[in-house]
Amino acid sequence: AEITDKKVKVAIAEGDGIGPEIMSATMDILKAAGANIETELIELGEQVYLSGNTSGIKSESWDVINRTKLILKAPITTPQGKGYKSLNVTLRKSLGLYANVRPVSSLYPFVKTHFPNMDVVIIRENEEDLYAGIEHQQTQDVVQCLKLITRPGCERIIRYAFEYARAYGRKKVTCMVKDNIMKLTDGLFHQVFNEIALDYDDIKSDSQIIDIGAAKLAAHPENYDVVVTSNLYGDIISDIAAEIAGSVGMAGSANIGANVAMFEAIHGSAPDIAGKNIANPSGLINAAVLMLAHIGQIKIADKIKNAWLATLEQGYHTSDIYQEGISKKKVSTEEFANEVISRL
Ligand code: ATP
Ligand code: MG
Repeated sequence: AEITDKKVKVAIAEGDGIGPEIMSATMDILKAAGANIETELIELGEQVYLSGNTSGIKSESWDVINRTKLILKAPITTPQGKGYKSLNVTLRKSLGLYANVRPVSSLYPFVKTHFPNMDVVIIRENEEDLYAGIEHQQTQDVVQCLKLITRPGCERIIRYAFEYARAYGRKKVTCMVKDNIMKLTDGLFHQVFNEIALDYDDIKSDSQIIDIGAAKLAAHPENYDVVVTSNLYGDIISDIAAEIAGSVGMAGSANIGANVAMFEAIHGSAPDIAGKNIANPSGLINAAVLMLAHIGQIKIADKIKNAWLATLEQGYHTSDIYQEGISKKKVSTEEFANEVISRL
């Protein structure tokens, strides 16, 4: 994004479970850092589902989103049982959020990990593939799901990956699909990757079959930089990447569309620890940092990121990453936010 300090409107969804706690911590930090945003709360998630609205989002919330075109969203709980449509899929599809971007890096030696040099960005296509929702019942015992891959869809996500690499000073983009088996669908993705790579001779490119690629990513994440892939594979490898980097509480992600963008933590609403003021707010803080970078408030984004890193480096850790010998103090959600604020 262009660097600017223009005031930007953002829709805030406080979410369920630990959502309100980590959102409150994140908002405190944004405010203290001087983020130039105007927030508007939107209602979505468990309460909306349970009120009988199976979409999980109020129509007034759509109005707000259509105005702000920017969302910071805490995790939500989808009630158990049939009939509740996944709000994440609804938002991605309705808002055309075609790119899911998940940067994952380890913070060795400050946070325990097996992979000290990991610094990967997974860029996942977010609308097509087996998630297009085209399923049929052929007969009572035969069902079918269509895998939809389009050239414009491939071009958009692959170009996004190379542009991202260029903008963030990354050196290499790796394509992962299984075109040895799915010669048409995955073949198209791979072919478009090869074509677009030619436009970016400043960035290295290579390709791996997804099965061995996923295995190698899990064993040697330090060998990867930016990875671009289709929807289902991206879902799987982005979880692998986040898991091996340390705590699920650490990473944020961006969902990018042509007109709207939504930022969120990668983890769920963690009902097991909700209301205890112990959740790690880092995932949502990082999502907010990605949001600020997206709207051009780069200086404030950097300021928060650096304060966050310093807090972790100086050993102020929430219980999910607390480790005797490495950590200095076990802090609550709120205390963690205050430590970050004191380092801005
Ligand atoms: P969902 O279906 O919503 O993705 P999930 O089953 O994947 O949920 P999460 O809610 O992500 O589960 O939680 C998985 C585990 O990680 C839980 O034990 C939870 O307490 C822990 N966890 C998740 N987020 C955090 C966090 N921010 N801080 C600390 N622990 C967390
Ligand atoms: Mg999950």
